[in-house]
Amino acid sequence: MTQDISFKDKVVIITGAGGGLGKQYALRFAERGAKVVVNDLGGSLSGSGNSTKAADVVVEEIKSKGGTAVSNYDNVVTNAEGILKTAVDNFGTVHVLINNAGILKDASFKKMTEKQFTDVLDVHLNGSFRLTKACWPYFKKQNYGRIIMTASPAGLYGNFGQANYSAAKLALVGFGETLAKEGYKNNIKVNAIAPLAKSRMTETIMPPDILERLLPQKISPLVLFLTSDQCPTTGSIYEVAAGLFAQIRWERSGGLYLRPDNTLTPEAILNRFKDISDFTKPGVQHPVQLNDYNQVWTVTSKLPSN
Ligand code: NAD
Repeated sequence: MTQDISFKDKVVIITGAGGGLGKQYALRFAERGAKVVVNDLGGSLSGSGNSTKAADVVVEEIKSKGGTAVSNYDNVVTNAEGILKTAVDNFGTVHVLINNAGILKDASFKKMTEKQFTDVLDVHLNGSFRLTKACWPYFKKQNYGRIIMTASPAGLYGNFGQANYSAAKLALVGFGETLAKEGYKNNIKVNAIAPLAKSRMTETIMPPDILERLLPQKISPLVLFLTSDQCPTTGSIYEVAAGLFAQIRWERSGGLYLRPDNTLTPEAILNRFKDISDFTKPGVQHPVQLNDYNQVWTVTSKLPSN
């Protein structure tokens, strides 16, 4: 029999929850009994300005339906501690952290300024780092934590005009993969999602009929599942959009083994480059940790010269 997923007595922090995906998560967590910290700076898509309204509207909606939520207007970059403090002052701790706040400063790489690059890294990567760092001691002490890193297909595959955003989003994947390992023995589970959904981030770049299939409501079920008591996985990446839920993993080809002596030249690679990129040969792996290079050495050191 399927168990219900409940967040009764769980404290959930969601950054950037005044709109888009974050708002949807906040409503769904609250419906299932969570005490929700609705963080949002209330700025523009590129991060300028601020307002208390975005977070307050979501909190009011939750309260009007009988749920429990509190607003927080701090910037994840400059006051992550303030966001945690809102959770601790109001609800005593934090169990679930959804790193969701984000901005866009798109430009082709030729035109991208250093400020556009670092501003985007600051909100997505450094903001997630600072708030996760603040929450981590609570997760460890209570032997329970659930974290979502919000990556993006643009981070996994690249996307024209988004060098800053792609860099930040793939960095969050690596960040989460390491935290999954470090948090494992304390029941801290960390997963990354790469969503695509209708929000102010996408509504100017995608046609309306497609956007209607990409409602943020299609993303929240996975986020709630991955942050539930029942979550069976950590350190994973999921692509999610329009009703598709698919895991993404690394794939290492069977590879080319060459003897590491003085015949290991660029030409040796040239001659057999196809073997390096051949994913059809036996030996394909899906690594989840650093390779065992001792084993590689055992194989390569016995090969004939190249
Ligand atoms: P959105 O603009 O509606 O939501 C982002 C929210 O973050 C906004 O409400 C904004 O005010 C808030 N925010 C921005 N900077 C902040 C800061 N420094 N401190 C606190 N709050 C801040 O966009 P969305 O589409 O709902 O995006 C949510 C997350 O999902 C983002 O991380 C985004 O990069 C990611 N994402 C979205 C899509 C998509 O298709 N919509 C695709 C891939 C990834």
